[in-house]
Amino acid sequence: MAPRCWRWWHWSAWPRTWPPPARSTPSFRQHFSTQEKTPQICVVGSGPAGFYTAQYLLKHHPQAHVDIYEKQLVPFGLVRFGVAPDHPEVKNVINTFTQTAHSDRCAFWGNVEVGRDVTVPELQEAYHAVVLSYGAEDHQALDIPGEELPGVFSARSFVGWYNGLPENQELAPDLSCDTAVILGQGNVALDVARILLTPPEHLEKTDITKAALGVLRQSQVKTVWLVGRRGPLQVAFTIKELREMIQLPGTRPILDPEEFLGLQDRIKEIPRPRKRLTELLLQTATQKPRAEEAAHLASGSRAWGLRFFRSPQQVLPSPDGRRVAGIRLAVTRLEGVGEAIRAVPTGDMEDLPCGLVLSSIGYKSRPIDPSVPFDLKLGVIPNMEGRVVDVPGLYCSGWVKTGPTGVIGTTMNDSFLTGQMLLQDLKSGLLASGPRPGSAAIQALLSSRGVRPVSFSDWEKLDAKEVAQGQGSGKPREKLVDRQEMLRLLGR
Ligand code: FAD
Repeated sequence: MAPRCWRWWHWSAWPRTWPPPARSTPSFRQHFSTQEKTPQICVVGSGPAGFYTAQYLLKHHPQAHVDIYEKQLVPFGLVRFGVAPDHPEVKNVINTFTQTAHSDRCAFWGNVEVGRDVTVPELQEAYHAVVLSYGAEDHQALDIPGEELPGVFSARSFVGWYNGLPENQELAPDLSCDTAVILGQGNVALDVARILLTPPEHLEKTDITKAALGVLRQSQVKTVWLVGRRGPLQVAFTIKELREMIQLPGTRPILDPEEFLGLQDRIKEIPRPRKRLTELLLQTATQKPRAEEAAHLASGSRAWGLRFFRSPQQVLPSPDGRRVAGIRLAVTRLEGVGEAIRAVPTGDMEDLPCGLVLSSIGYKSRPIDPSVPFDLKLGVIPNMEGRVVDVPGLYCSGWVKTGPTGVIGTTMNDSFLTGQMLLQDLKSGLLASGPRPGSAAIQALLSSRGVRPVSFSDWEKLDAKEVAQGQGSGKPREKLVDRQEMLRLLGR
């Protein structure tokens, strides 16, 4: 079918006032009055924020129609490409998202990159409201010499590699070294350390990609250091993830009791969740293991450790300059109290030999359209409870709204709040009145630009293929990682 002309669908070509001019026929009038009751809303991004925002809007407005635009061929954002393969229970939220996608008032349009294939102002013209939920796709750079050396990766791309993110499949990390250093002490850092140290046979029945499992099977990495600028009281990981590391089979923790001196006395003053976390750290660092435990630990060929009060200064090259051979760390001490506490260099330096450096100091959102306000320093879209500052009808939710912190549960609450603000504005008449063409206009526009979106039923075909591919090896799925192959399977 020939692409429809965009001008024809352009919303400004539609009457902006109600009632429409007298020449309207009754059926024309009826058509418009039906449309006016149907708020056309679009959401950019199909991660937890996108799906939870859509869920809220559909639940709390009986007529609202929600289109979800996603740049990947597949939905679910970091639930698919971030959450670790050995945490399958976390991925159950996909069932709820699938229910939302099955609503006849919701449509998924994958393979559409907003900012490239269609602009935000174009979406604003086609919809009554636009919600930006496109997450945090960049990583914080280390900004130190040597960062570009082979063997230095962002944790973000390493996670994308083992989770089958198409753009990270060329990463090919060389795991022939003995020691890896992870810069950062948050949950992502622990995920990466765990994947590096877990015996590969324990990952065989997960949805980790076949290629990543193959590389991990050949891995020579025996020791992983997690380096933090601050101390044991400032670690950013949570107790569940720490416990998993402590219990990792065939792997022993290396925690220097010296670094925990004095903590025992302070534990009483620490608020609850951090108190339990610190107790577990302290106990692991100071308690002598029982005999059989000691034998088990001694037999462990692998180890992980926390290196506190160290700030990366330079990635050190191998003698031939071809790859990483270590990292130079500045020793730090803490200054200030409470929230203002910060690490300052003492002047001492330390070199830590390693063959792999993974920087896990944070994800970062990027601006996707020059028309959308963006706080480059904080890496978020400036907003008041999800309403984008100074842009009526534009909203945001999830990591692009809050910054890259928080789990799926917090993202859910935050997205519900954005949905609530949007519906409040709709009720108060603050959103554009009159009908909007919604996806019809955008599809025509995309078609004229040669962009062919994929639907949720297309994803379900890919999903079925992945599940079938995994069956032979007892995996929940073998992910498709090649965009061209996926498009071929969809007959494109
Ligand atoms: P995302 O999940 O990143 O979704 C954003 C979506 O927008 C993506 O699908 C992306 O492709 C799309 N997009 C980006 N740009 C565009 C564009 N221009 N046009 C169209 N679409 C676009 N939480 C837990 O509760 N448990 C865990 O075990 C857990 N593990 C994690 C592991 C890692 C490595 C990471 C990084 C996070 C983890 N989290 C976990 C946190 C959780 O993933 C986040 O809270 C959540 O995914 C944030 O949701 P979001 O929708 O804002 O972002």
